Amino acid sequence: MEWSRAEVKSILTRTSGYLKSVTSHSLQPYRGCPLGSSLCGVGCYVQHNRWLTRGRRWGSFLEARTNAAEAYLRQVAGERRWGRASRGSFGVFLSSSTEPFPPQERRLGITRRVLAAMLDEPPDVLVLQTHSPAVVAHLELVRRLAARCRLRVHLSIETDRERLPGLPPHASPVARRLAAAAALKAAGIATVVTVAPLLPIADPDAFFSRIAEVAGAVVIDHFIGGDGSRDGRRTRATPLVAAIAAVEPAAVELEYRQRMVEVARRYLPGRVGVSIDGFAGRYLS
Ligand code: SF4
Repeated sequence: MEWSRAEVKSILTRTSGYLKSVTSHSLQPYRGCPLGSSLCGVGCYVQHNRWLTRGRRWGSFLEARTNAAEAYLRQVAGERRWGRASRGSFGVFLSSSTEPFPPQERRLGITRRVLAAMLDEPPDVLVLQTHSPAVVAHLELVRRLAARCRLRVHLSIETDRERLPGLPPHASPVARRLAAAAALKAAGIATVVTVAPLLPIADPDAFFSRIAEVAGAVVIDHFIGGDGSRDGRRTRATPLVAAIAAVEPAAVELEYRQRMVEVARRYLPGRVGVSIDGFAGRYLS
C-alpha cells in the first residue's frame, strides 16, 4: 500500500451528477481507498476515475488529507450560503469516493477531526456513508452531531453472504456490520443499511427481517442504474458481474432488485428506498 499525506486547499466539493439530488456537497477526507482490495473494491465505480487513480491499481494507494478539518472550517460559511441558495440546503455526503473510516483513521483521526469541526459549524444535512463498523468508535461524536443537524449513517451491507466465490472477502464480516448498525440505532442515530450494489442474497427473508431490527430504513441499489453508467457498463467491465452470475444468474438483471424490494417492504414498510431516491432519504410509501 502506497500512502502519503497531503494538504488540500479545499475539501467541500459541490456535487454533480446523481449525487446532486442527495446533498449539495461531498467531502473526501482521503483520496484512494484501502478497502479497494476487498470485495466492495471489485466493482467500486471510483476505480474508473482516471484523474483520481492516475493509473494506480484501485486499493493500492491512500492519500490522507491531513488538514481536512481546517479546510472545512475555511470553506463552510461560503459553501453553506451557496448550498442553501442553489440547492435548498447545505448537505454533506461523507464520503462518495473513499471510506471515511479506513484502518488508518484510527491513527490519523482525519475524519474524526472533520466531525468535531462540524460540531462547531454543522451542515444542515450530513450523510455518513461507510462500509466499516469502525464508525461505532465515534458513536458519542456522531450522537452529538445528530443533535445539531439532520444526520443519517448509511452502512453498506450488500449481501448476507460472507464470500462470493472467486472474489476477495469483505473488508469486515456481515455480522459485524449488522452489529454496528444495531449499536447506532440503539444510540438513537438515524441508521440506514445500504444494500448497494445489491449482490445475491442467500435468504432474503432472514436478511431483511434482520435489517429491520438493526436499522430504521434500507436502500437497495443495483449496479444497473446504480453505477453511473449506461446499463451498468462500468461494473460489467469488472469481475463482479461474472461472480454474481455464478452464484445467482438472475441477480445480474435489474428485475432482481424489484424482487428484493418486495421482500424488504414486508419487513420495513414505508422504509425502503430504491437507488438514488433511497440515498436521498426518499422511501417508497
Ligand atoms: S469502501 Fe467504498 S470507496 Fe472504498 S472500495 Fe469500497 S465501495 Fe469503493
